[in-house]
Amino acid sequence: MIRLSQPFIAQEEKEAIFKALEKNYLGMGEFVKSFEQDIAAYLGVEANNVVCVNTGTAALHLALQACGIKEGDEVLVPTVTYVGTFQAVSATGATPIPCDVEIDTCFIDLEDARKRLSSRTKAILPVHYAGSLCDFNQLRNFANSYNLRIIEDAAHAFGSVYLNGIKVGAIGDITCFSFDPIKNITSGQGGAIVSQDPAVISKVNNYRLLGVENESNVSYKDNRQFCFDVKEQGWRYHMSDIMAALGQAQLKKFETELKPKRMALAKYYRERLAIINGVQFLKADLEKEVLHIQPVRIEKKMREKLQLLLKKENIETGIHYRPNHFLTKYNRGFCLPVAETLYQELLSLPLHLHLTYENIDKIGEIFEAAFIDSSKLL
Ligand SMILES: *Cc1c(COP(=O)(O)O)cnc(C)c1O
Repeated sequence: MIRLSQPFIAQEEKEAIFKALEKNYLGMGEFVKSFEQDIAAYLGVEANNVVCVNTGTAALHLALQACGIKEGDEVLVPTVTYVGTFQAVSATGATPIPCDVEIDTCFIDLEDARKRLSSRTKAILPVHYAGSLCDFNQLRNFANSYNLRIIEDAAHAFGSVYLNGIKVGAIGDITCFSFDPIKNITSGQGGAIVSQDPAVISKVNNYRLLGVENESNVSYKDNRQFCFDVKEQGWRYHMSDIMAALGQAQLKKFETELKPKRMALAKYYRERLAIINGVQFLKADLEKEVLHIQPVRIEKKMREKLQLLLKKENIETGIHYRPNHFLTKYNRGFCLPVAETLYQELLSLPLHLHLTYENIDKIGEIFEAAFIDSSKLL
């Protein structure tokens, strides 16, 4: 069986978790603090600019709350994303406004987003789809023109680097990562908020621990307060030391092992499949971007056929994603034609660190056979 995605865990991770367990303090403690410092050092931001939480969805929710996004507000979101992005917006009481995407990247289409602005629009939530990076200057110009906050969903993109050599998360307003089991690095479950805005950092530090003031600092010392104040709504969204220990072990080998392996597999997919007429890749900079998923575009009828052929060979595929404006909760009664076309054409192929070049060759052969077969039928 070739899985679509899979975590990649070795002995180092198991030993790191053991160390956290041996300390006999399993909540949010010094491991979380040191994981945050490691992430900050990796990204090239100040040590206290990173706040870890228990999921990527929680990271987005808290980032939005820290911007003051609330009921009555609207947030522009590309419709092609994980439903967690939409749920994070609606969790604040605000309304996510689905926007169309660009056909060759699946990024939010700013021309379409412009049409969906209203006096209630407070933020834009771009998704760095598949791990490729949206044009940050365009986003900033757009946000500046309409006085919007930018909350980046970089759940797919940990480790991706902009053309100028800066890592995603190191510039911008607020960036959110996910460390879900199948993401570029994992802490079991987990996420992080990165921001250079001290007001945002201070708020999310409290929000992740039920709004208890200064509780993050006390927790870092494996302690808790009994006399405290709460001024705002908070949540139980903190990360545990067990998760942090796992995440730290993954981060330690990310540059030397996890990232190069993932990047090499994505490159090999291009070499192997790009020559096949009928298979289109999305735009990506494979020298700088760490792909989390490997979507390709295939004409609708052919996609169905290929999905079946791959399934027969025990090869899992996926479709990222069913556009959120198709979901009952987020449907607003308008059509987003590019996203709807992509929904019929996108097919995500296996991409994870247990995948081999031979696996990709096998997928290539199945593709070739299917396309040759179908040209004979014409
Ligand atoms: C994984 C993911 C999230 C949410 O992350 P979790 O850690 O699973 O909550 C958000 N947005 C996108 C695009 C994702 O892929």
